[in-house]
This record gives sequence, C-alpha cells and structure tokens, in this order.
Amino acid sequence: KPFKLISELMDAGIFAGMNQTIEEDVAGRLAAKYGFQLEIRHRGEEQAVAKAKEKKIELAEDDPSLLSPRAPVVCVLGHVDHGKTTLLDSIRKANVVSGEAGGITQHIGAYQVEQNGHKLTFIDTPGHAAFSKMRERGANVTDIAILVVAADDGFMPQTDEALKFAQNAGVPIVVAINKMDAKGANIERVKQQMQERNIASEDWGGETLCSAVSAINNEGISELLEQVLLQAEVLELKANHSCDAQGIIVESQVEQGRGSTATVIVQKGTLKPGSALVCGDNYCKVRAMLDENGQKVKSAPPSTPVRIMGWSDAPDSGSYFLEVKNDKVARRIAEENAEEMRQELLSKQVKDNAPMDLDQFLGLIDEKQQKTLSVIVKADVHGSMEAVIGMLESIKSDKVSLRVIVSDVGLVSKNDVVLASSSKATIVAFNTRMENGVQALAKHDDVHIVHHNIIYELVDQVRDAMAELLEPEY
Ligand code: GDP
Repeated sequence: KPFKLISELMDAGIFAGMNQTIEEDVAGRLAAKYGFQLEIRHRGEEQAVAKAKEKKIELAEDDPSLLSPRAPVVCVLGHVDHGKTTLLDSIRKANVVSGEAGGITQHIGAYQVEQNGHKLTFIDTPGHAAFSKMRERGANVTDIAILVVAADDGFMPQTDEALKFAQNAGVPIVVAINKMDAKGANIERVKQQMQERNIASEDWGGETLCSAVSAINNEGISELLEQVLLQAEVLELKANHSCDAQGIIVESQVEQGRGSTATVIVQKGTLKPGSALVCGDNYCKVRAMLDENGQKVKSAPPSTPVRIMGWSDAPDSGSYFLEVKNDKVARRIAEENAEEMRQELLSKQVKDNAPMDLDQFLGLIDEKQQKTLSVIVKADVHGSMEAVIGMLESIKSDKVSLRVIVSDVGLVSKNDVVLASSSKATIVAFNTRMENGVQALAKHDDVHIVHHNIIYELVDQVRDAMAELLEPEY
C-alpha cells in the first residue's frame, strides 16, 4: 500500500510524496524487500502509460514538417436564454457536411459542418459548464469560442463570466450578437458594452470579430461562420495526421445493446476501426465509429468528432485518450491505471484519517455533531450524473452532511462495491444497471445500494439513508 511504501522510504531518509519519481535502485530495493522484482518498461510504453495516467498530451512535440492543417474546434458560450442552443441547432441545420445529410441527427456532443469548403467542429453542449469541466482537467480542446450576446438584453453576468473563462484559457472569441429580430434589439449598445470590456469590434476600432445573427430565423449564420474561419486562419491550426491518435472525450454513455460509447474529438493522429485506445482505467478496441448522423466513419483525422463503440466502460468527459500498439497493451495499461486510482483513493482516505493539526482539530469541534454520509454516484450519462450530484449536495441537514467520494458513468461494478465497503460509503445509482454479481457482493460486504430511475425518488432514498445515520445505536 502506498502509505506503507512512503513510510518505508521515510525510514530510508527519502521523503517521497504519492506521485514522486524515485531512483531505480531505491525502487528495486523496496520491491525486493516485499518479494517483488522490478521491471523497467521500454521508453515508448512508459511514456504512453505516464500520458494515459496524467491525462496530459504534448501537442507541440511534432516536427513542423509533419503537420498539416486541421479544422478549428469551436464552442458556444454565453448567458442563459441568449440563444446558445438555438444557434448550435441552426448552424448544424444550415451547414451539414455535404453527402452526409439524410441520416438521423443525434446529439452526440459534437458535430462538424462545412462552410465554403472549410470544415468547422462544434462542441454541441452549450454553456461553459462543459467547457470549464474540460479546462479543469487541463484539456485545451477548443480553439475558438463564440460568445453569444442577445441584442435585446446585452451583456449579462454569465456573459462576463464566459468571457473571462475564454480569456483565461487563451481562447479567442468571436461575438455573435443574437436575436437581431427581437423587439428591443440594440446592436450599438452591445458594441458599446464590448468596448467597455476591451473587446471592441472592428467597426468600433477594435480587433474582435463580431457578427449579427438571428438564430431562430437562421439569419447571419454563414457570415458568423466566415468570421470564425477568419479567426481560425489567424491561428494557423495544424496537427500531425499520421502519428498514434490522441484526443479528448467529449461525452460518454452506456447504451443498451451498444455497451459503452464515447464521443471523442481527435487532436492528433487518425483514428480507424480496430485502433486500440486507453483512457485512464478504460480501454477500447474501436469496434465502429459513427458521426452525428449515425453514419459509419472509416477514418477520423484531427478535429473530427466521432462516437466510438467498443469501450470497456464509459470514460470521463474531459479526459484524454491515447492510441497504443494493440488491445492487449491497452487493457494492461488500463488495468494498472485502475489499480493505481484505487490505491490513490484508499491512501487519500488514510490521509483523511491521519492525525490532524490544531486548525483541523478546531474545525472538527465545530462539526462535532455532524455525521457524514459518503456516497459513490453512478449514472448512465454525465449530464444526469452531474444533476444527481447537484441534487444530493443540495440536501440540507444540520446534523448529517453528504460527501461524494467518487462519481462515474456506467454500470455499478464490483470495484465500486469494494470501494464502498472500504470507505463505508453508500452507492447511489441513477438510471443504470448493475454488473453481474454486484448485488451478491454488496450483500456480503454490507454495502447499501440506492438505485432508482427517477431522480426525486433517488434523492428521497438518500435522504432516508442520511436520517438513518442519526438513529440511536445500541
Ligand atoms: P440558451 O439558454 O442560451 O441555450 O438559449 P436557447 O437557445 O434555449 O434560447 C432561449 C430562448 O430564446 C428560446 O425561447 C429561443 O427560442 C429564443 N431565441 C433563440 N434565438 C433567438 C433569436 O434569434 N431570436 C429570438 N427572437 N428568439 C431567440
């Protein structure tokens, strides 16, 4: 166990943290002490493991001569009700990539359109929740943000927040002044507000590209896309198309009959059916790739969004995937990652239980009366998972608090039960099923599983479980 190794290292005078690199001979001695033999991996493989674990991707490492142009990846941000969803729909309708029309449109989290022969990729989850979630994980997936401002309403708090997000992320913005058809639409006021925020539009002497649209009437959409392409041109977006594929998970789901699927955006390399991927503790032999029209895709070069089938489980949105040599390697790395993540969590709990300093102690006195219900949340898709967490966290109680220790998309697994048992947590499962044997194991390990397909019922049951913590013990 990590904490044991850490204390072992301490005895040897090495004050190592959880994720620290240690010398090979130290590792060798330590391994030998516990009867293990140290095995050093080949460099490439080691890097792949490290990358898959850290969920970081070096996009700049390619030789410039290997790079070719790629489409911009665009997200839509702005205040609630200013028309983000409507705009995303109207862009998609107006500019379906030719030859792919006629299929059944599905919202898979991202889509690609064409404007004058140039492709653009859109993240199809409006609002900065998705964007910031990815940023939180260090993922720079978007190249350009369209900031939607309703002409009749002007800049609002979330518009400013979104602007700040984009600016902090170093993502250039194109402003879409929407609802030009609405009564009270006032484009000059919006431009004035842009100037006040140091993002003056070109006709006001600034540099920010901006376009007036009516998303609901499909007006001004081509002009807006032209502006986005203009912005993209400045960025000179390029990627290596022929290396091992890497990219980011936009959305994932467990679908009946299809297993786990995930929509990804390829960032470099080209994905093909048969590619072997690792994403954290998940792996995938790409069984099939579909676009947003449900059409099969044979190859997905950089910036292409595709829904991939063949995942071992649903990977987290915002995490990186990486192509490896074959599915055996993918599986092994994923399993090692899973074990490591489990250990990290356990050691975090050990740390949580470690002797505390005075501040922590005083803090604890304050909450002395508080009991905590720890929960592991599982749900069918990310959106519902976040909704469940939001509702659970809003349950108000003076005496019992609730702590989500892990949340994930997918079936309730035996691993979840093991984790719940070791951390005395309750499993809260929304709209998802259980792997074979989970119920028996839960019974054996005395793990409580709250399971429902109706969110309010689920929350009620969790509330009951919290109340039960207050029952007197005999
Ligand atoms: P979101 O919350 O930013 O995603 O906004 P929605 O796309 O859901 O739009 C909010 C409301 O504004 C809906 O009732 C839309 O029909 C309406 N809306 C969106 N675009 C326009 C537009 O161009 N003109 C007018 N008049 N209404 C719009």
